[in-house]
Amino acid sequence: MRALLTSEQIQSRITEMAAEMEAAYTGDDDIHFVCVLRGGFIFMADLVRAMGPRATMDFIAVSSYGNAVRSTGEVRLLKDLDTGIEGRDVIIVEDIVDTGLTLTYLQDILRARAPKSLRTACLLSKPSRRLVDVTVEYVGFEIEDHFVVGYGLDYAERYRNLPYIAVLQE
Ligand code: 5GP
Repeated sequence: MRALLTSEQIQSRITEMAAEMEAAYTGDDDIHFVCVLRGGFIFMADLVRAMGPRATMDFIAVSSYGNAVRSTGEVRLLKDLDTGIEGRDVIIVEDIVDTGLTLTYLQDILRARAPKSLRTACLLSKPSRRLVDVTVEYVGFEIEDHFVVGYGLDYAERYRNLPYIAVLQE
């Protein structure tokens, strides 16, 4: 395993992203964060703690790769939101955008619920792997095509608790 991003680099980028979000949403309405489980939970926890009191949150779960390193492209909703998002400013919080298929699916189902606005924040992006053109307003870091673990991201459910991002040697 080889370290790719240190926890200091991640924290400092998240602080910048939170400030950018606070500035983009004027007024006093909630900024409603939708965390994509399971990979997004650590990014979400740090992101909302870098925000002011307007941050509210909910959780959604979609099928993951299982134990495989590559995506099958199939997406299934495993756990829906607990609260409605109609008329709300929503930000999807995802660990990584790879092919873009998961996010396209999530954006489609959430947009159909008529939020006031819908944006997406991803800690990591692998642009060279994209199969569909998906819009991500907030990207933490663009990375090369490596399989990464840590900071919420797993391999066979392990390494999510690693406090930094590492490349799993394939
Ligand atoms: P996409 O649908 O964009 O291909 O994939 C998104 C999902 O695939 C992510 O939420 C994540 O669960 C998983 N994924 C994609 N790349 C990686 C990676 O490098 N490492 C890990 N652990 N998961 C990944």
